[in-house]
Amino acid sequence: MSAKFTGRCECGAITYEFNNAPDFVADCYCKDCQRSSGGVMASYFSVAEDDFKLLSGNPRPYAYVADSGNTLERNFCPDCGARVFTNKLSGFPGTVFVMLGSLDDPETVRPPITEIFTARRISWTKPLDVPQHWARPDVDEGIARQHMPGGCG
Ligand SMILES: [Zn+2]
Ligand SMILES: [Zn+2]
Repeated sequence: MSAKFTGRCECGAITYEFNNAPDFVADCYCKDCQRSSGGVMASYFSVAEDDFKLLSGNPRPYAYVADSGNTLERNFCPDCGARVFTNKLSGFPGTVFVMLGSLDDPETVRPPITEIFTARRISWTKPLDVPQHWARPDVDEGIARQHMPGGCG
């Protein structure tokens, strides 16, 4: 039986699938998401590691230390350069964060439930009507507003 959700990188070398509908979907405006995606923000969702199945391709991991001090790996396609998913997060063990735009049909996943690292929002982008967080939701209040937070994770 084929999985409910499928996706791939731009060139199609990397393909993946998972079965459970994601609960956590977010827009992230952190500087790292802007740089690594090339867009004004990145939309991604979480999938349990044991549900996420890589079907083809050899993603190239890029190890990264987030602003929080947590470590993670962003996985790119070595052929087309697309950022596809993030895993090995010390802050979120057992979870894979998948780029929403890589889904074959992004409409099958719920819209974002929150926007995070809005400190980095570019002024001409309009907030969605969902909870807005200056940085990471769980550390929001602890971060002084003078401090411009860096990458998520
Ligand atoms: Zn590719
Ligand atoms: Zn981010």
